Amino acid sequence: VTPANELSNYVGLERYLLLSILGDGAFSIVYKALDKQTDTHVAIKVIRKLELKANQRISILKEVQLMKSLDHESILSLCGFLETLEYYFLITELCQGGELFQQIVHLTYFSEDLARHCIRQVAEGIGYLHEVKGVVHRDIKPENLLFEPIPFLARVDPAPVQPDDEPKVDEGRFVENYGGGGIGKVKIGDFGLSKIIWDEATVTPCGTIGYTAPEIVLRQNYSKAVDMWALGCVLYTMLCGFPPFYDDDDIDILTEKVARGDYTFMSPWWDSISNEAKDLVAHLLCVDPTQRYDIHQCLHHPWLLGQVKSRKAGH
Ligand code: ADP
Ligand code: MG
Repeated sequence: VTPANELSNYVGLERYLLLSILGDGAFSIVYKALDKQTDTHVAIKVIRKLELKANQRISILKEVQLMKSLDHESILSLCGFLETLEYYFLITELCQGGELFQQIVHLTYFSEDLARHCIRQVAEGIGYLHEVKGVVHRDIKPENLLFEPIPFLARVDPAPVQPDDEPKVDEGRFVENYGGGGIGKVKIGDFGLSKIIWDEATVTPCGTIGYTAPEIVLRQNYSKAVDMWALGCVLYTMLCGFPPFYDDDDIDILTEKVARGDYTFMSPWWDSISNEAKDLVAHLLCVDPTQRYDIHQCLHHPWLLGQVKSRKAGH
Protein backbone atom coordinates (compact mmCIF):
# COMPACT_ATOMS: atom_id res chain seq x y z
CA VAL A 1 0.00 0.00 0.00
CA THR A 2 1.33 3.38 -0.97
CA PRO A 3 1.26 5.73 2.00
CA ALA A 4 -0.79 8.65 0.78
CA ASN A 5 1.31 11.37 2.35
CA GLU A 6 4.50 9.93 0.86
CA LEU A 7 3.37 10.84 -2.65
CA SER A 8 3.46 14.54 -2.01
CA ASN A 9 7.25 14.29 -1.69
CA TYR A 10 7.58 13.53 -5.36
CA VAL A 11 8.45 16.26 -7.80
CA GLY A 12 5.33 17.10 -9.77
CA LEU A 13 2.95 15.66 -7.20
CA GLU A 14 3.16 18.52 -4.69
CA ARG A 15 0.28 20.15 -6.50
CA TYR A 16 -2.05 17.27 -5.59
CA LEU A 17 -3.61 16.63 -2.22
CA LEU A 18 -4.67 13.01 -1.86
CA LEU A 19 -8.15 12.76 -0.39
CA SER A 20 -9.33 9.16 -0.46
CA ILE A 21 -8.99 5.79 -2.18
CA LEU A 22 -11.40 5.24 -5.09
CA GLY A 23 -10.39 1.72 -5.97
CA ASP A 24 -7.52 -0.70 -6.09
CA GLY A 25 -6.32 -3.57 -8.19
CA ALA A 26 -3.47 -6.06 -8.24
CA PHE A 27 -0.88 -3.52 -9.36
CA SER A 28 -2.47 -0.18 -8.68
CA ILE A 29 -4.39 2.10 -6.36
CA VAL A 30 -6.63 4.92 -7.56
CA TYR A 31 -6.89 8.00 -5.37
CA LYS A 32 -9.24 10.91 -5.41
CA ALA A 33 -7.13 14.05 -5.18
CA LEU A 34 -7.39 17.81 -5.23
CA ASP A 35 -5.36 19.60 -7.86
CA LYS A 36 -4.34 22.66 -5.85
CA GLN A 37 -3.28 24.56 -8.97
CA THR A 38 -6.67 24.38 -10.64
CA ASP A 39 -8.77 23.76 -7.52
CA THR A 40 -10.45 20.79 -9.20
CA HIS A 41 -10.76 17.17 -8.21
CA VAL A 42 -8.89 14.53 -10.20
CA ALA A 43 -8.23 10.81 -9.99
CA ILE A 44 -4.65 9.58 -9.67
CA LYS A 45 -3.86 6.00 -10.55
CA VAL A 46 -0.65 4.86 -8.91
CA ILE A 47 0.91 1.81 -10.54
CA ARG A 48 3.71 -0.01 -8.73
CA LYS A 49 6.55 -0.43 -11.20
CA LEU A 50 8.76 -2.73 -9.20
CA GLU A 51 6.49 -5.75 -9.71
CA LEU A 52 6.33 -5.23 -13.47
CA LYS A 53 8.60 -6.78 -16.06
CA ALA A 54 10.43 -4.62 -18.61
CA ASN A 55 8.03 -5.51 -21.43
CA GLN A 56 5.03 -4.70 -19.23
CA ARG A 57 6.50 -1.30 -18.49
CA ILE A 58 7.03 -0.66 -22.19
CA SER A 59 3.43 -1.66 -22.90
CA ILE A 60 2.17 0.71 -20.23
CA LEU A 61 4.18 3.58 -21.66
CA LYS A 62 2.78 2.84 -25.13
CA GLU A 63 -0.73 2.70 -23.72
CA VAL A 64 -0.21 6.03 -21.99
CA GLN A 65 0.92 7.54 -25.30
CA LEU A 66 -2.26 6.25 -26.88
CA MET A 67 -4.42 7.58 -24.04
CA LYS A 68 -2.86 11.01 -24.46
CA SER A 69 -4.03 11.04 -28.07
CA LEU A 70 -7.65 10.23 -27.20
CA ASP A 71 -10.22 12.97 -27.03
CA HIS A 72 -13.84 11.91 -26.67
CA GLU A 73 -16.36 12.73 -23.99
CA SER A 74 -17.17 9.05 -23.41
CA ILE A 75 -13.53 8.22 -22.72
CA LEU A 76 -11.86 9.09 -19.45
CA SER A 77 -9.32 11.74 -20.30
CA LEU A 78 -5.73 11.60 -19.17
CA CYS A 79 -4.66 14.98 -17.80
CA GLY A 80 -1.12 14.06 -16.89
CA PHE A 81 1.47 11.36 -16.48
CA LEU A 82 4.40 11.21 -14.07
CA GLU A 83 6.97 8.55 -13.39
CA THR A 84 9.36 7.87 -10.53
CA LEU A 85 11.66 4.94 -9.89
CA GLU A 86 8.90 3.06 -8.11
CA TYR A 87 5.63 4.32 -9.53
CA TYR A 88 3.71 5.48 -12.55
CA PHE A 89 1.15 8.18 -11.85
CA LEU A 90 -1.75 8.60 -14.26
CA ILE A 91 -3.76 11.70 -13.57
CA THR A 92 -7.24 11.52 -15.07
CA GLU A 93 -10.49 13.36 -14.81
CA LEU A 94 -12.56 12.27 -11.80
CA CYS A 95 -15.88 10.51 -12.18
CA GLN A 96 -17.81 11.33 -9.02
CA GLY A 97 -20.53 8.80 -9.78
CA GLY A 98 -18.25 5.79 -9.49
CA GLU A 99 -18.68 2.50 -11.28
CA LEU A 100 -21.56 1.41 -13.45
CA PHE A 101 -21.20 -1.98 -11.78
CA GLN A 102 -22.07 -0.51 -8.40
CA GLN A 103 -25.06 1.17 -9.98
CA ILE A 104 -26.38 -2.17 -11.19
CA VAL A 105 -25.96 -3.63 -7.71
CA HIS A 106 -27.67 -0.59 -6.22
CA LEU A 107 -30.53 -0.43 -8.69
CA THR A 108 -31.04 -4.17 -9.25
CA TYR A 109 -31.40 -3.43 -12.96
CA PHE A 110 -31.85 -0.48 -15.30
CA SER A 111 -34.99 0.59 -17.09
CA GLU A 112 -34.67 0.32 -20.87
CA ASP A 113 -34.43 4.07 -21.19
CA LEU A 114 -31.65 4.31 -18.65
CA ALA A 115 -29.81 1.36 -20.24
CA ARG A 116 -30.13 3.07 -23.64
CA HIS A 117 -28.84 6.34 -22.20
CA CYS A 118 -25.75 4.56 -20.83
CA ILE A 119 -25.09 2.11 -23.67
CA ARG A 120 -25.38 4.82 -26.30
CA GLN A 121 -22.60 6.80 -24.65
CA VAL A 122 -20.40 3.73 -24.29
CA ALA A 123 -21.09 2.79 -27.92
CA GLU A 124 -20.16 6.28 -29.07
CA GLY A 125 -16.87 5.96 -27.17
CA ILE A 126 -16.24 2.57 -28.79
CA GLY A 127 -17.15 4.09 -32.17
CA TYR A 128 -14.48 6.74 -31.64
CA LEU A 129 -11.90 4.10 -30.68
CA HIS A 130 -12.75 1.71 -33.53
CA GLU A 131 -13.51 4.06 -36.37
CA VAL A 132 -11.49 7.17 -35.63
CA LYS A 133 -8.48 5.80 -33.77
CA GLY A 134 -8.50 2.22 -35.07
CA VAL A 135 -7.88 0.71 -31.65
CA VAL A 136 -9.57 -1.96 -29.56
CA HIS A 137 -10.27 -1.39 -25.87
CA ARG A 138 -10.30 -5.10 -24.90
CA ASP A 139 -11.52 -4.55 -21.36
CA ILE A 140 -15.07 -3.24 -21.64
CA LYS A 141 -16.95 -4.30 -18.51
CA PRO A 142 -19.12 -2.59 -15.90
CA GLU A 143 -16.21 -1.98 -13.48
CA ASN A 144 -14.41 0.01 -16.16
CA LEU A 145 -17.39 2.19 -16.96
CA LEU A 146 -17.67 5.28 -14.80
CA PHE A 147 -20.33 7.91 -14.24
CA GLU A 148 -20.04 11.69 -14.05
CA PRO A 149 -22.01 13.18 -12.40
CA ILE A 150 -24.61 11.03 -10.80
CA PRO A 151 -27.97 12.73 -10.67
CA PHE A 152 -30.84 12.00 -8.44
CA LEU A 153 -32.37 8.55 -8.73
CA ALA A 154 -35.75 7.85 -7.27
CA ARG A 155 -37.26 4.55 -6.35
CA VAL A 156 -40.68 3.78 -7.72
CA ASP A 157 -42.66 2.05 -5.06
CA PRO A 158 -44.13 -1.10 -6.52
CA ALA A 159 -47.87 -0.93 -7.06
CA PRO A 160 -49.93 -2.95 -4.55
CA VAL A 161 -50.07 -6.56 -5.73
CA GLN A 162 -53.49 -8.02 -6.43
CA PRO A 163 -53.81 -11.68 -5.35
CA ASP A 164 -54.46 -12.90 -8.89
CA ASP A 165 -51.78 -10.71 -10.49
CA GLU A 166 -49.14 -12.03 -12.83
CA PRO A 167 -45.86 -12.62 -10.97
CA LYS A 168 -44.41 -9.18 -10.46
CA VAL A 169 -41.11 -8.43 -12.12
CA ASP A 170 -40.89 -4.72 -11.54
CA GLU A 171 -40.10 -4.74 -7.86
CA GLY A 172 -36.93 -2.89 -7.21
CA ARG A 173 -37.06 -1.22 -10.61
CA PHE A 174 -35.97 2.35 -10.39
CA VAL A 175 -36.59 5.19 -12.71
CA GLU A 176 -34.21 7.94 -13.45
CA ASN A 177 -34.66 11.62 -13.37
CA TYR A 178 -34.34 12.68 -16.98
CA GLY A 179 -34.01 16.34 -16.21
CA GLY A 180 -30.65 17.56 -17.41
CA GLY A 181 -29.39 14.54 -19.30
CA GLY A 182 -30.51 11.41 -17.53
CA ILE A 183 -28.06 9.68 -15.22
CA GLY A 184 -25.17 11.81 -16.38
CA LYS A 185 -22.11 11.11 -18.46
CA VAL A 186 -20.82 7.59 -18.80
CA LYS A 187 -17.11 7.22 -19.48
CA ILE A 188 -14.92 4.33 -20.47
CA GLY A 189 -11.97 4.17 -18.08
CA ASP A 190 -9.07 1.85 -17.44
CA PHE A 191 -7.86 2.00 -20.99
CA GLY A 192 -6.20 -1.35 -21.66
CA LEU A 193 -3.72 -1.00 -18.81
CA SER A 194 -4.90 -3.86 -16.65
CA LYS A 195 -5.25 -6.00 -19.75
CA ILE A 196 -1.62 -5.45 -20.66
CA ILE A 197 -0.51 -6.59 -17.26
CA TRP A 198 -2.79 -9.59 -17.18
CA ASP A 199 -2.10 -10.71 -20.74
CA GLU A 200 1.61 -10.60 -20.37
CA ALA A 201 1.56 -12.32 -17.05
CA THR A 202 -0.56 -14.92 -18.91
CA VAL A 203 -3.08 -14.98 -16.13
CA THR A 204 -6.78 -14.94 -16.77
CA PRO A 205 -8.57 -12.84 -14.20
CA CYS A 206 -11.59 -14.94 -13.17
CA GLY A 207 -13.77 -11.91 -12.55
CA THR A 208 -13.48 -10.90 -16.19
CA ILE A 209 -13.98 -14.18 -17.99
CA GLY A 210 -17.74 -13.83 -18.05
CA TYR A 211 -17.35 -10.86 -20.35
CA THR A 212 -14.69 -12.41 -22.55
CA ALA A 213 -15.61 -13.20 -26.17
CA PRO A 214 -15.59 -16.78 -27.53
CA GLU A 215 -12.69 -16.13 -29.89
CA ILE A 216 -10.53 -15.08 -26.92
CA VAL A 217 -11.61 -18.04 -24.84
CA LEU A 218 -10.83 -20.25 -27.85
CA ARG A 219 -7.54 -18.39 -28.32
CA GLN A 220 -8.29 -17.36 -31.88
CA ASN A 221 -7.38 -14.06 -33.47
CA TYR A 222 -9.49 -11.26 -32.21
CA SER A 223 -10.04 -7.65 -32.91
CA LYS A 224 -12.67 -4.93 -32.63
CA ALA A 225 -15.43 -7.53 -32.40
CA VAL A 226 -14.35 -8.39 -28.84
CA ASP A 227 -15.46 -4.96 -27.66
CA MET A 228 -18.83 -5.53 -29.32
CA TRP A 229 -19.26 -8.84 -27.50
CA ALA A 230 -18.37 -7.17 -24.21
CA LEU A 231 -20.83 -4.38 -24.96
CA GLY A 232 -23.51 -7.04 -25.47
CA CYS A 233 -22.64 -8.52 -22.07
CA VAL A 234 -22.86 -5.10 -20.42
CA LEU A 235 -26.20 -4.36 -22.10
CA TYR A 236 -27.60 -7.75 -21.07
CA THR A 237 -26.46 -7.21 -17.48
CA MET A 238 -27.92 -3.71 -17.30
CA LEU A 239 -31.31 -4.87 -18.50
CA CYS A 240 -31.79 -7.82 -16.15
CA GLY A 241 -29.24 -7.34 -13.36
CA PHE A 242 -27.21 -10.51 -13.91
CA PRO A 243 -24.62 -11.41 -16.56
CA PRO A 244 -25.38 -13.56 -19.63
CA PHE A 245 -22.65 -16.07 -18.85
CA TYR A 246 -22.10 -17.14 -15.32
CA ASP A 247 -20.99 -20.13 -13.33
CA ASP A 248 -20.48 -20.02 -9.60
CA ASP A 249 -17.19 -21.83 -9.36
CA ASP A 250 -16.37 -23.84 -12.46
CA ILE A 251 -14.30 -21.80 -14.88
CA ASP A 252 -14.31 -24.62 -17.48
CA ILE A 253 -18.10 -24.72 -17.58
CA LEU A 254 -18.21 -20.95 -17.92
CA THR A 255 -15.63 -21.06 -20.72
CA GLU A 256 -17.72 -23.62 -22.58
CA LYS A 257 -20.88 -21.58 -22.17
CA VAL A 258 -19.11 -18.54 -23.62
CA ALA A 259 -17.60 -20.54 -26.48
CA ARG A 260 -21.04 -21.84 -27.44
CA GLY A 261 -22.73 -18.50 -26.86
CA ASP A 262 -24.96 -20.40 -24.48
CA TYR A 263 -27.18 -17.77 -22.86
CA THR A 264 -30.95 -17.28 -22.58
CA PHE A 265 -33.44 -14.50 -21.99
CA MET A 266 -34.58 -16.06 -18.76
CA SER A 267 -38.15 -15.76 -17.58
CA PRO A 268 -39.48 -13.89 -15.68
CA TRP A 269 -36.64 -11.34 -15.73
CA TRP A 270 -36.69 -10.81 -19.50
CA ASP A 271 -40.47 -11.10 -20.00
CA SER A 272 -41.13 -7.38 -19.89
CA ILE A 273 -38.08 -6.33 -21.91
CA SER A 274 -38.76 -5.20 -25.47
CA ASN A 275 -37.98 -7.42 -28.46
CA GLU A 276 -35.87 -4.64 -29.91
CA ALA A 277 -33.57 -4.68 -26.88
CA LYS A 278 -33.32 -8.47 -27.12
CA ASP A 279 -32.59 -8.18 -30.83
CA LEU A 280 -29.63 -5.87 -30.18
CA VAL A 281 -28.30 -8.15 -27.42
CA ALA A 282 -28.60 -11.15 -29.76
CA HIS A 283 -26.68 -9.40 -32.55
CA LEU A 284 -23.90 -8.45 -30.13
CA LEU A 285 -23.74 -11.85 -28.40
CA CYS A 286 -23.18 -13.59 -31.71
CA VAL A 287 -20.48 -16.27 -31.45
CA ASP A 288 -19.17 -15.78 -35.00
CA PRO A 289 -17.23 -12.48 -34.86
CA THR A 290 -17.72 -11.96 -38.59
CA GLN A 291 -21.51 -12.04 -38.13
CA ARG A 292 -21.52 -10.01 -34.93
CA TYR A 293 -22.72 -6.41 -35.17
CA ASP A 294 -19.93 -3.90 -35.56
CA ILE A 295 -20.08 -0.51 -33.90
CA HIS A 296 -21.72 1.13 -36.90
CA GLN A 297 -24.55 -1.42 -36.98
CA CYS A 298 -24.91 -1.13 -33.22
CA LEU A 299 -25.17 2.66 -33.23
CA HIS A 300 -27.85 2.47 -35.93
CA HIS A 301 -29.94 -0.21 -34.27
CA PRO A 302 -33.53 1.01 -33.69
CA TRP A 303 -33.36 0.27 -29.96
CA LEU A 304 -30.26 2.38 -29.50
CA LEU A 305 -31.70 5.17 -31.62
CA GLY A 306 -34.71 5.10 -29.35
CA GLN A 307 -37.15 4.83 -32.23
CA VAL A 308 -39.07 2.07 -30.53
CA LYS A 309 -41.27 2.67 -27.56
CA SER A 310 -39.90 0.50 -24.78
CA ARG A 311 -42.37 -1.67 -23.02
CA LYS A 312 -42.34 -1.19 -19.31
CA ALA A 313 -42.71 -3.88 -16.72
CA GLY A 314 -46.29 -4.93 -16.19
CA HIS A 315 -47.52 -3.71 -19.60
P1 ADP B 1 -7.58 -1.48 -12.46
O1 ADP B 1 -6.47 -1.61 -13.42
O2 ADP B 1 -7.16 -1.84 -11.06
O3 ADP B 1 -8.85 -2.14 -12.90
P2 ADP B 1 -8.98 1.04 -12.84
O4 ADP B 1 -8.39 2.14 -13.63
O5 ADP B 1 -10.10 0.28 -13.46
O6 ADP B 1 -7.81 0.09 -12.36
O7 ADP B 1 -9.44 1.65 -11.46
C1 ADP B 1 -9.88 0.83 -10.40
C2 ADP B 1 -11.15 1.40 -9.80
O8 ADP B 1 -10.91 2.72 -9.29
C3 ADP B 1 -12.27 1.57 -10.81
O9 ADP B 1 -12.96 0.37 -11.02
C4 ADP B 1 -13.09 2.67 -10.13
O10 ADP B 1 -13.86 2.15 -9.08
C5 ADP B 1 -12.03 3.56 -9.52
N1 ADP B 1 -11.65 4.63 -10.45
C6 ADP B 1 -10.66 4.60 -11.36
N2 ADP B 1 -10.56 5.75 -12.04
C7 ADP B 1 -11.53 6.56 -11.56
C8 ADP B 1 -11.97 7.89 -11.87
N3 ADP B 1 -11.37 8.63 -12.81
N4 ADP B 1 -13.01 8.39 -11.17
C9 ADP B 1 -13.62 7.64 -10.23
N5 ADP B 1 -13.27 6.40 -9.90
C10 ADP B 1 -12.24 5.84 -10.54
MG1 MG C 1 -10.47 -1.71 -13.96
